[in-house]
Amino acid sequence: MLSSSLINEIQKILGKENVFTTLEERLCYGYDSTPEAFLPDLVIRPTCTEQIQKILKLANLHLFPVIPRGAGTGLSGGSLPVKGGVILDLNRMDRILEIDEENLVATVEPGVITAHLQEEVEKRGLFYPPDPASLKTSTIGGNVAECAGGPRAFKYGVTRDYVLGLEIVTPKGEILQTGGKTVKSVTGYDLTRLYTGSEGTLGIITKIILRLIPKPEAKKTMMIVYERLDDAAKTVTLIIKQGIIPVTLELMDDITMRCVENYLQLGLPLDAEAVLIIEVDGPIDLVEKQINQVGELSRANGAREVKIAKNEKEREEIWAARRAVSAAVVQIKPTKISEDIAVPRSQIPVMVRRLKEIAFRYQLNLAIFGHAGDGNLHPNILCDKNDSEEMERVEKAIGELFQAAVELGGTLSGEHGIGTMKAPYLKLETGEVGFEVMRAIKKALDPNNILNPGKIFGSG
Ligand SMILES: Cc1cc2nc3c(=O)[nH]c(=O)nc-3n(C[C@H](O)[C@H](O)[C@H](O)COP(=O)(O)OP(=O)(O)OC[C@H]3O[C@@H](n4cnc5c(N)ncnc54)[C@H](O)[C@@H]3O)c2cc1C
Repeated sequence: MLSSSLINEIQKILGKENVFTTLEERLCYGYDSTPEAFLPDLVIRPTCTEQIQKILKLANLHLFPVIPRGAGTGLSGGSLPVKGGVILDLNRMDRILEIDEENLVATVEPGVITAHLQEEVEKRGLFYPPDPASLKTSTIGGNVAECAGGPRAFKYGVTRDYVLGLEIVTPKGEILQTGGKTVKSVTGYDLTRLYTGSEGTLGIITKIILRLIPKPEAKKTMMIVYERLDDAAKTVTLIIKQGIIPVTLELMDDITMRCVENYLQLGLPLDAEAVLIIEVDGPIDLVEKQINQVGELSRANGAREVKIAKNEKEREEIWAARRAVSAAVVQIKPTKISEDIAVPRSQIPVMVRRLKEIAFRYQLNLAIFGHAGDGNLHPNILCDKNDSEEMERVEKAIGELFQAAVELGGTLSGEHGIGTMKAPYLKLETGEVGFEVMRAIKKALDPNNILNPGKIFGSG
């Protein structure tokens, strides 16, 4: 609980209208896109870096937690106020400060919506590739803090591949500048990379310098239907072996398709085990050649149907199916546990079989979809958080699926981060030494554990 004199002091810094104190207002900031919810003591909406500096200095003096928050679309619990404290909502810092066409760089505030930045740079013939499926809502600050990926990561990489520099308010309220507009910089430690993916635990990101690239000339999208999921998974590796690097190589299994079809009625094949959504981009001639090559290769490897979008409307329909997945799968049961493992691409068929076997053994509803091109699968367990017996089985299944991913040379999280949801499993991947090195960094930079406590390392 914050004292009323402390709340007064915060109101003086931000103006009363930017400090939310009522229960109704605080409830609106207590959840993200995980099934969990906690009540913050206060919500603040700063408009500038200086206000954030003052708040963090105050937090260190009075020892209250500060939890940075973008759009709350996080899937690992990163912006949940697990220990109460102050939610620092960055949505009002939403200006695109510069699009520098000569240096192919954009400088933005953290609250800029991802899709908005993409639209603005595309008007100038430029391209910002990272495309989390939440892009119409998520913020660039949240993307950097989680190192978000998305379907296009297969060809273009993830958010960290585009972050050139950052302005950060440290937990003690100082300003740290990292990197800059140059593509090359090897001055000292790479602090830009340290903060990218730090999940709001090491500092508040207040300015971001992003690398842009020229917009590809053309793109083509296709949906490929498979009787057998194994054939779909095998095609993914064969396409890459042929030297073709599509922009996206997305996979949806039968359960996912049934949910999407029930939700949107797009005419998806309900008797097939899997579909791949593949998009290629680049110069027009190459795009035509590659989309046909992929089609032929798929047919030769068990595809039942290859549907190439003939126009933008058909392309949008294919993507509508993929983007609707998160909303559609909750028709099965109300609670969605969305995991985010990644394995080396060649291990996808093995991982998919392990996932199905785990779901069968624990009698759970499991939908599998994800970015097959980079081995990043999203096994979604559909359950009911009020059913404690089922939740016990869910916990066991989650432990086993993480274990399987690590055994296959993979990772707990391809793009959603650790947050609270995966904190208990962190050491599975990092080992004791990796865990201690990470914790030492956190302790050195945030000795009072002000920023986003309870995340990544759990409550310990
Ligand atoms: C339907 C749906 C689809 C999704 N698809 C994808 C996908 O394809 N790929 C993918 O990678 N993710 C995906 N996500 C997850 C989520 O959208 C991303 O993690 C996104 O980057 C979160 O952005 P946000 O603005 O909502 O951040 P929030 O959820 O508000 O916060 C996420 C984390 O960032 C921290 N944070 C936020 N802003 C700052 C800041 N300025 N400074 C420091 N820390 C900060 C928070 O404390 C928290 O730890 C999806 C989510 C949903 C709901």
